[in-house]
Amino acid sequence: MRLFKNVDVQILNRLLDDVRACELEYGEVLLSPASRNEHLYLLVEGQLDIRLGRIDNPTINVIHPGDCTGEVSFIDSQHPSAYVIAAERSVVLRLHRERLLHLMKGSSALMQNVLGLLCSRVRQGNQIIQDVEKSANIDSLTGLHNRRWLQHTFERESTRCAFDEAPLCLLMFDVDHFKAYNDTHGHLAGDYALSMVANTLRNQLRPKDSMARFGGEEFVILLPDLGLNEARDIGERLRHTLESVATFYSPQGALPGVTISIGVAQMAPRDTLESLIARADQALYQAKQAGRNCLCG
Ligand code: GH3
Ligand code: MG
Ligand code: MG
Repeated sequence: MRLFKNVDVQILNRLLDDVRACELEYGEVLLSPASRNEHLYLLVEGQLDIRLGRIDNPTINVIHPGDCTGEVSFIDSQHPSAYVIAAERSVVLRLHRERLLHLMKGSSALMQNVLGLLCSRVRQGNQIIQDVEKSANIDSLTGLHNRRWLQHTFERESTRCAFDEAPLCLLMFDVDHFKAYNDTHGHLAGDYALSMVANTLRNQLRPKDSMARFGGEEFVILLPDLGLNEARDIGERLRHTLESVATFYSPQGALPGVTISIGVAQMAPRDTLESLIARADQALYQAKQAGRNCLCG
Protein backbone atom coordinates (compact mmCIF):
# COMPACT_ATOMS: atom_id res chain seq x y z
CA MET A 1 0.00 0.00 0.00
CA ARG A 2 1.39 3.33 -1.09
CA LEU A 3 0.44 5.06 2.12
CA PHE A 4 2.65 2.75 4.17
CA LYS A 5 5.74 2.77 1.94
CA ASN A 6 8.97 3.26 3.98
CA VAL A 7 6.96 4.03 7.12
CA ASP A 8 8.59 2.93 10.38
CA VAL A 9 7.14 -0.33 11.80
CA GLN A 10 6.41 1.31 15.16
CA ILE A 11 4.35 4.03 13.50
CA LEU A 12 2.64 1.41 11.36
CA ASN A 13 1.68 -0.61 14.43
CA ARG A 14 0.21 2.48 16.12
CA LEU A 15 -1.62 3.31 12.93
CA LEU A 16 -3.05 -0.18 12.62
CA ASP A 17 -4.26 -0.10 16.24
CA ASP A 18 -6.66 2.67 15.22
CA VAL A 19 -7.78 1.24 11.92
CA ARG A 20 -11.32 -0.02 11.51
CA ALA A 21 -12.27 -2.36 8.71
CA CYS A 22 -15.63 -1.61 7.11
CA GLU A 23 -17.56 -3.72 4.64
CA LEU A 24 -19.43 -2.03 1.85
CA GLU A 25 -22.30 -3.55 -0.09
CA TYR A 26 -22.58 -3.09 -3.85
CA GLY A 27 -23.84 0.45 -4.55
CA GLU A 28 -23.16 1.71 -1.02
CA VAL A 29 -22.03 5.35 -0.91
CA LEU A 30 -18.78 5.76 1.01
CA LEU A 31 -18.25 9.49 0.40
CA SER A 32 -20.67 12.13 -0.78
CA PRO A 33 -20.38 15.90 -1.34
CA ALA A 34 -23.38 16.23 0.96
CA SER A 35 -21.52 15.10 4.10
CA ARG A 36 -18.27 16.07 5.72
CA ASN A 37 -15.47 13.54 5.75
CA GLU A 38 -13.11 12.94 8.63
CA HIS A 39 -11.50 9.73 7.43
CA LEU A 40 -8.98 8.43 5.00
CA TYR A 41 -10.03 5.13 3.45
CA LEU A 42 -7.74 2.41 2.14
CA LEU A 43 -9.34 -0.08 -0.20
CA VAL A 44 -8.38 -3.65 0.68
CA GLU A 45 -10.84 -5.60 -1.43
CA GLY A 46 -13.29 -4.80 -4.23
CA GLN A 47 -13.57 -1.65 -6.30
CA LEU A 48 -14.79 1.92 -5.77
CA ASP A 49 -16.25 4.22 -8.46
CA ILE A 50 -15.73 7.99 -8.49
CA ARG A 51 -18.53 10.14 -9.89
CA LEU A 52 -18.77 13.90 -10.16
CA GLY A 53 -21.84 16.12 -9.82
CA ARG A 54 -24.56 13.51 -9.46
CA ILE A 55 -24.58 10.03 -8.06
CA ASP A 56 -25.96 8.59 -11.32
CA ASN A 57 -23.41 10.35 -13.56
CA PRO A 58 -20.89 8.18 -15.44
CA THR A 59 -17.88 6.93 -13.47
CA ILE A 60 -14.85 9.11 -14.16
CA ASN A 61 -12.30 7.08 -12.24
CA VAL A 62 -12.02 3.81 -10.31
CA ILE A 63 -10.13 2.89 -7.16
CA HIS A 64 -8.45 -0.50 -6.90
CA PRO A 65 -7.20 -2.39 -3.82
CA GLY A 66 -4.11 -0.68 -2.33
CA ASP A 67 -5.37 2.77 -3.31
CA CYS A 68 -6.80 5.45 -1.00
CA THR A 69 -9.78 7.72 -1.15
CA GLY A 70 -10.97 10.68 0.86
CA GLU A 71 -7.47 12.19 1.17
CA VAL A 72 -8.43 15.60 -0.20
CA SER A 73 -11.44 16.22 2.03
CA PHE A 74 -9.57 14.57 4.87
CA ILE A 75 -6.73 17.11 4.57
CA ASP A 76 -8.73 20.29 4.01
CA SER A 77 -11.72 19.29 6.17
CA GLN A 78 -14.09 20.30 3.37
CA HIS A 79 -16.90 18.23 1.93
CA PRO A 80 -15.72 15.62 -0.61
CA SER A 81 -15.74 16.88 -4.20
CA ALA A 82 -17.06 13.60 -5.61
CA TYR A 83 -19.21 10.60 -4.84
CA VAL A 84 -17.31 7.43 -3.98
CA ILE A 85 -19.46 4.36 -4.41
CA ALA A 86 -18.79 0.64 -4.01
CA ALA A 87 -18.78 -0.90 -7.50
CA GLU A 88 -18.95 -4.36 -5.90
CA ARG A 89 -18.81 -5.81 -2.37
CA SER A 90 -15.72 -4.09 -0.93
CA VAL A 91 -13.66 -3.79 2.23
CA VAL A 92 -11.99 -0.55 3.30
CA LEU A 93 -9.75 0.34 6.24
CA ARG A 94 -10.84 3.55 7.91
CA LEU A 95 -8.34 5.93 9.56
CA HIS A 96 -9.49 8.92 11.57
CA ARG A 97 -8.16 12.34 10.56
CA GLU A 98 -6.86 13.40 13.99
CA ARG A 99 -5.03 10.13 14.52
CA LEU A 100 -3.32 10.15 11.15
CA LEU A 101 -2.37 13.84 11.41
CA HIS A 102 -0.82 13.11 14.79
CA LEU A 103 1.24 10.22 13.39
CA MET A 104 2.25 12.29 10.35
CA LYS A 105 3.96 14.75 12.70
CA GLY A 106 6.30 11.96 13.80
CA SER A 107 6.88 10.36 10.38
CA SER A 108 8.20 12.22 7.38
CA ALA A 109 7.72 9.04 5.27
CA LEU A 110 4.01 9.02 6.11
CA MET A 111 3.80 12.74 5.33
CA GLN A 112 5.56 12.18 2.00
CA ASN A 113 3.21 9.34 1.10
CA VAL A 114 0.13 11.45 1.80
CA LEU A 115 1.63 14.24 -0.35
CA GLY A 116 2.30 11.65 -3.08
CA LEU A 117 -1.37 10.63 -2.97
CA LEU A 118 -2.49 14.25 -3.26
CA CYS A 119 -0.15 14.80 -6.22
CA SER A 120 -1.58 11.83 -8.12
CA ARG A 121 -5.09 13.17 -7.50
CA VAL A 122 -4.08 16.55 -8.99
CA ARG A 123 -2.58 14.81 -12.03
CA GLN A 124 -5.68 12.64 -12.48
CA GLY A 125 -7.83 15.79 -12.25
CA ASN A 126 -5.78 17.48 -14.98
CA GLN A 127 -6.05 14.40 -17.19
CA ILE A 128 -9.83 14.37 -16.75
CA ILE A 129 -9.99 18.07 -17.72
CA GLN A 130 -7.97 17.28 -20.87
CA ASP A 131 -10.20 14.32 -21.80
CA VAL A 132 -13.40 16.32 -21.26
CA GLU A 133 -12.00 19.22 -23.30
CA LYS A 134 -11.14 16.83 -26.11
CA SER A 135 -14.54 15.15 -26.21
CA ALA A 136 -16.28 18.55 -26.07
CA ASN A 137 -14.62 19.36 -29.42
CA ILE A 138 -15.46 16.12 -31.22
CA ASP A 139 -18.66 15.17 -32.99
CA SER A 140 -19.51 11.67 -31.78
CA LEU A 141 -21.14 10.43 -35.00
CA THR A 142 -18.42 11.30 -37.52
CA GLY A 143 -15.38 11.73 -35.26
CA LEU A 144 -14.81 15.11 -36.92
CA HIS A 145 -14.29 18.28 -34.94
CA ASN A 146 -17.40 20.28 -34.13
CA ARG A 147 -18.50 23.90 -34.33
CA ARG A 148 -16.99 24.84 -30.97
CA TRP A 149 -13.57 23.68 -32.14
CA LEU A 150 -14.01 25.43 -35.50
CA GLN A 151 -14.47 28.76 -33.76
CA HIS A 152 -11.27 28.26 -31.82
CA THR A 153 -9.31 27.09 -34.89
CA PHE A 154 -10.61 29.90 -37.07
CA GLU A 155 -9.31 32.47 -34.60
CA ARG A 156 -5.86 30.90 -34.69
CA GLU A 157 -5.69 30.33 -38.47
CA SER A 158 -7.21 33.68 -39.49
CA THR A 159 -4.72 35.53 -37.27
CA ARG A 160 -1.82 33.54 -38.69
CA CYS A 161 -2.91 34.03 -42.33
CA ALA A 162 -3.49 37.77 -41.79
CA PHE A 163 -0.04 38.06 -40.20
CA ASP A 164 1.60 36.16 -43.09
CA GLU A 165 -0.51 38.11 -45.61
CA ALA A 166 -1.70 34.73 -46.87
CA PRO A 167 -5.26 33.99 -48.06
CA LEU A 168 -7.71 31.79 -46.17
CA CYS A 169 -10.72 30.15 -47.79
CA LEU A 170 -13.72 28.38 -46.36
CA LEU A 171 -15.80 25.66 -47.99
CA MET A 172 -19.28 24.98 -46.72
CA PHE A 173 -21.05 21.91 -48.02
CA ASP A 174 -24.36 20.23 -47.48
CA VAL A 175 -25.53 16.73 -48.44
CA ASP A 176 -28.09 16.83 -51.26
CA HIS A 177 -31.64 15.54 -50.78
CA PHE A 178 -30.66 14.05 -47.46
CA LYS A 179 -34.17 14.09 -46.07
CA ALA A 180 -35.22 11.82 -48.94
CA TYR A 181 -32.17 9.60 -48.27
CA ASN A 182 -33.28 9.14 -44.65
CA ASP A 183 -36.89 8.58 -45.70
CA THR A 184 -35.90 5.91 -48.23
CA HIS A 185 -33.13 4.06 -46.39
CA GLY A 186 -33.79 4.90 -42.74
CA HIS A 187 -32.15 7.27 -40.28
CA LEU A 188 -29.45 4.78 -39.33
CA ALA A 189 -28.41 4.44 -42.99
CA GLY A 190 -28.32 8.26 -43.06
CA ASP A 191 -25.94 8.19 -40.10
CA TYR A 192 -23.65 5.75 -41.93
CA ALA A 193 -23.74 7.98 -45.01
CA LEU A 194 -22.65 10.99 -42.92
CA SER A 195 -19.75 8.98 -41.47
CA MET A 196 -18.79 7.83 -44.97
CA VAL A 197 -18.78 11.48 -46.18
CA ALA A 198 -16.55 12.50 -43.27
CA ASN A 199 -14.12 9.59 -43.72
CA THR A 200 -13.91 9.92 -47.49
CA LEU A 201 -13.26 13.65 -47.51
CA ARG A 202 -10.98 14.09 -44.53
CA ASN A 203 -8.42 11.78 -46.17
CA GLN A 204 -8.19 14.17 -49.11
CA LEU A 205 -7.11 17.19 -47.08
CA ARG A 206 -3.71 18.55 -46.12
CA PRO A 207 -2.74 18.30 -42.43
CA LYS A 208 -3.16 22.06 -42.00
CA ASP A 209 -6.75 22.02 -43.34
CA SER A 210 -9.53 21.78 -40.78
CA MET A 211 -12.79 19.96 -41.35
CA ALA A 212 -15.69 20.21 -38.95
CA ARG A 213 -19.26 19.04 -38.81
CA PHE A 214 -21.14 22.29 -38.60
CA GLY A 215 -24.46 20.65 -37.74
CA GLY A 216 -26.88 18.11 -39.27
CA GLU A 217 -25.64 17.30 -42.80
CA GLU A 218 -23.58 20.48 -43.13
CA PHE A 219 -19.80 20.59 -42.95
CA VAL A 220 -17.16 23.32 -43.06
CA ILE A 221 -13.55 23.12 -44.25
CA LEU A 222 -10.96 25.81 -43.56
CA LEU A 223 -8.22 26.01 -46.19
CA PRO A 224 -5.35 28.20 -45.00
CA ASP A 225 -2.84 29.65 -47.46
CA LEU A 226 -5.07 29.04 -50.49
CA GLY A 227 -6.74 31.59 -52.77
CA LEU A 228 -10.22 31.30 -54.26
CA ASN A 229 -9.17 29.43 -57.41
CA GLU A 230 -7.20 26.78 -55.54
CA ALA A 231 -10.03 26.41 -53.01
CA ARG A 232 -12.50 25.91 -55.88
CA ASP A 233 -10.24 23.18 -57.32
CA ILE A 234 -10.14 21.41 -53.97
CA GLY A 235 -13.90 21.75 -53.57
CA GLU A 236 -14.44 20.31 -57.05
CA ARG A 237 -12.13 17.42 -56.25
CA LEU A 238 -14.02 16.66 -53.02
CA ARG A 239 -17.37 16.89 -54.77
CA HIS A 240 -16.17 14.57 -57.54
CA THR A 241 -14.73 12.06 -55.06
CA LEU A 242 -18.11 11.68 -53.37
CA GLU A 243 -19.99 11.60 -56.64
CA SER A 244 -17.89 8.62 -57.70
CA VAL A 245 -18.86 6.61 -54.58
CA ALA A 246 -21.90 4.91 -56.08
CA THR A 247 -22.29 2.49 -53.15
CA PHE A 248 -20.50 1.99 -49.87
CA TYR A 249 -20.51 -0.79 -47.32
CA SER A 250 -22.03 -0.31 -43.88
CA PRO A 251 -23.16 -2.59 -41.03
CA GLN A 252 -26.56 -2.37 -42.80
CA GLY A 253 -25.06 -3.77 -45.98
CA ALA A 254 -24.46 -1.90 -49.25
CA LEU A 255 -25.95 1.60 -49.33
CA PRO A 256 -26.06 4.17 -52.12
CA GLY A 257 -23.64 7.12 -51.97
CA VAL A 258 -24.65 10.76 -51.68
CA THR A 259 -23.70 13.99 -53.44
CA ILE A 260 -22.90 17.38 -51.96
CA SER A 261 -23.34 21.02 -52.94
CA ILE A 262 -20.53 23.40 -52.02
CA GLY A 263 -20.21 27.13 -51.38
CA VAL A 264 -16.77 28.80 -51.32
CA ALA A 265 -15.72 32.13 -49.81
CA GLN A 266 -12.37 33.80 -49.21
CA MET A 267 -11.67 35.69 -46.01
CA ALA A 268 -11.64 39.48 -46.37
CA PRO A 269 -10.16 41.93 -43.83
CA ARG A 270 -12.39 42.26 -40.74
CA ASP A 271 -14.24 39.01 -41.54
CA THR A 272 -15.39 37.02 -38.55
CA LEU A 273 -16.15 33.30 -38.77
CA GLU A 274 -19.84 34.21 -38.87
CA SER A 275 -19.50 36.69 -41.74
CA LEU A 276 -17.26 34.34 -43.73
CA ILE A 277 -19.68 31.45 -43.20
CA ALA A 278 -22.61 33.67 -44.20
CA ARG A 279 -20.95 34.33 -47.61
CA ALA A 280 -20.09 30.64 -48.10
CA ASP A 281 -23.67 29.77 -47.14
CA GLN A 282 -25.01 32.20 -49.77
CA ALA A 283 -22.80 30.51 -52.39
CA LEU A 284 -24.04 27.13 -51.15
CA TYR A 285 -27.62 28.32 -51.61
CA GLN A 286 -26.77 29.24 -55.22
CA ALA A 287 -25.30 25.78 -55.76
CA LYS A 288 -28.56 24.24 -54.52
CA GLN A 289 -30.55 26.54 -56.83
CA ALA A 290 -28.28 25.57 -59.73
CA GLY A 291 -29.40 21.95 -59.41
CA ARG A 292 -27.16 20.55 -56.59
CA ASN A 293 -24.00 18.39 -56.85
CA CYS A 294 -22.03 21.49 -57.89
CA LEU A 295 -19.89 24.29 -56.46
CA CYS A 296 -20.53 28.05 -56.39
CA GLY A 297 -18.64 31.07 -55.08
P1 GH3 B 1 -31.09 19.84 -49.83
O1 GH3 B 1 -30.58 19.12 -51.01
O2 GH3 B 1 -31.79 21.10 -50.19
O3 GH3 B 1 -30.02 20.08 -48.82
O4 GH3 B 1 -32.20 18.91 -49.18
P2 GH3 B 1 -32.12 18.09 -47.85
O5 GH3 B 1 -33.22 17.09 -47.85
O6 GH3 B 1 -30.73 17.55 -47.64
O7 GH3 B 1 -32.33 19.23 -46.77
P3 GH3 B 1 -33.26 19.34 -45.53
O8 GH3 B 1 -32.73 20.48 -44.75
O9 GH3 B 1 -34.72 19.37 -45.96
O10 GH3 B 1 -33.08 18.00 -44.73
C1 GH3 B 1 -31.91 17.72 -44.04
C2 GH3 B 1 -32.07 16.35 -43.47
O11 GH3 B 1 -30.87 15.94 -42.81
C3 GH3 B 1 -33.18 16.28 -42.45
C4 GH3 B 1 -32.52 15.66 -41.24
O12 GH3 B 1 -33.33 14.66 -40.66
C5 GH3 B 1 -31.26 15.06 -41.79
N1 GH3 B 1 -30.23 14.97 -40.77
C6 GH3 B 1 -29.63 15.97 -40.09
N2 GH3 B 1 -28.74 15.48 -39.21
C7 GH3 B 1 -28.77 14.13 -39.35
C8 GH3 B 1 -28.08 13.05 -38.71
O13 GH3 B 1 -27.23 13.22 -37.81
N3 GH3 B 1 -28.36 11.79 -39.10
C9 GH3 B 1 -29.29 11.54 -40.07
N4 GH3 B 1 -29.50 10.29 -40.43
N5 GH3 B 1 -29.97 12.53 -40.69
C10 GH3 B 1 -29.71 13.81 -40.34
MG1 MG C 1 -28.89 21.33 -44.63
MG1 MG D 1 -29.09 18.88 -47.42
